[in-house]
Amino acid sequence: MRTIGHFVDNAPAAGRSGRHGPVHDPATGELTARVALASAAEVDAAVAAAAAAARSWGRASLARRTGVLFRYRELLVAHREDVAALITAEHGKVPGDALGEVARGLEIVELACGIPEKLKGELSMEVSTGVDVASIRQPLGVVAGITPFNFPAMVPLWMFPLAVACGNAFVLKPSEKAPSASLLLASLAAEAGLPAGVLNVVNGDREAVGRLLAHPDVAAVSFVGSTPVARAVHREATAHGKRVQALGGAKNHMLVLPDADLDLAADAAVGAAYGSAGERCMAVSVLVAVGEDTADALVERLAARAAAVRVGPGTDPDAEMGPLITAAHRARVAGYVAGAAAQGARVVLDGTGLRVPGHEAGFFLGVSLLDRVTAEMDAYRDEIFGPVLCVVRAASYEDAIALINASPWGNGSAVFTRDGRAARRFQLEVETGMVGVNVPIPVPVGYHSFGGWKASLFGDHHVYGNDGVRFLTRGKVITSRWPEPADGGGGLGFPRNS
Ligand code: NAD
Repeated sequence: MRTIGHFVDNAPAAGRSGRHGPVHDPATGELTARVALASAAEVDAAVAAAAAAARSWGRASLARRTGVLFRYRELLVAHREDVAALITAEHGKVPGDALGEVARGLEIVELACGIPEKLKGELSMEVSTGVDVASIRQPLGVVAGITPFNFPAMVPLWMFPLAVACGNAFVLKPSEKAPSASLLLASLAAEAGLPAGVLNVVNGDREAVGRLLAHPDVAAVSFVGSTPVARAVHREATAHGKRVQALGGAKNHMLVLPDADLDLAADAAVGAAYGSAGERCMAVSVLVAVGEDTADALVERLAARAAAVRVGPGTDPDAEMGPLITAAHRARVAGYVAGAAAQGARVVLDGTGLRVPGHEAGFFLGVSLLDRVTAEMDAYRDEIFGPVLCVVRAASYEDAIALINASPWGNGSAVFTRDGRAARRFQLEVETGMVGVNVPIPVPVGYHSFGGWKASLFGDHHVYGNDGVRFLTRGKVITSRWPEPADGGGGLGFPRNS
């Protein structure tokens, strides 16, 4: 059995804890490797490597840092299919989707290449006679990143390129369910010339996370995962005095108004609900249709399109949707479809019986479409994180926005309409951090920032973009004066401007 270890000081490091977790190929159900689960001592070794590297890397010139990042960008482009293949092998998403994930991660590397522009400080000359004031931003030191299984490359790339561009060293703890993409990303960074210790990968579970959250040399923690863990990570890391951004789960609503192009809306909803088997934090999981006629017409279109979604392994070039991450998760998702029927929803499509020929042991599930879902049902209340789309019928725009804003989550939302005024009203009124107007998955480009509201993000800063740079640096204001000896040193009074 192949064993996946860690990557510390620019070299692979075998696990020494004696504990391992299983890594599956979700398309075959096969156990393909075991991943080492780091002990607290192994986390300490990675943090020590990072802390040592941070001292010199934090003072490396901007030209040196961006030189490495430009080379990294080229290497990542050259190896994007290798990264995508690892994603498909351990996560199961189809190759086109895996390549899309790498492309969205590359955006942040490209943003990081332009870090000098973001780190330009502010200078005010002659604020008082002979006195200048400069505001600068400096690295934090060691930053830790803890990432989920569903974007094995993109979410790590949201974090470490910008962190190291800002002069920090980084310790990445990827999901133990899909650890290999992170190791390749880190070895490519070493090949690009990133000095040893600046980027380290420790694989592990809650034990490794617990140590990172408590370690005195970790200055900040970026977390992406489910809401209960995000909330706990935020509480624990802030209690240890760290800066934290903890992104949680979601239940994203797409509002369809009666004047929308319903073919366009149905196409968009099917892609956004079932792409990556619904295992996206920005997946549309609830479609809110205003008016019975709108709902009837949409459900008819959704059913026709969804039934045609081709489910299969990444090795099938025609497959549009792959398997779920584990057998246990598949069973959990299927339970929501059965439960929704028992609670009174209309099951328009039930994908729970799907079997993919030749891949009977894979963790596949077909697509499910539930109509007449209400806010009281479990399928509406919980994040299912699978290929299940719920349709909720609302009598009016006001009822729809009240429903959406009552959700405990606030990651993304979308409105589909031809009416600019209605869309504008939705933008202003909806309580989510990211909004799409005729765009179903409004993941911001790299030079804006990604983040939700309410239980979808704990902390003050979104990731990447300007918020990312602020999170990854701390401000310092320098007041300077170069007096002549004759100018004197001033008295005991509080200095005043003159
Ligand atoms: P998860 O919360 O189970 O795991 C995320 C990370 O936390 C992993 O590295 C895992 O090892 C670690 N972890 C798990 N349980 C822990 C515990 N008890 N204590 C400490 N660490 C723990 O999430 P997942 O199943 O890997 O990913 C899916 C979830 O992530 C979904 O809820 C999804 O919405 C969310 N997600 C959110 C975003 C976002 O940007 N908001 C993006 C992607 C995924």
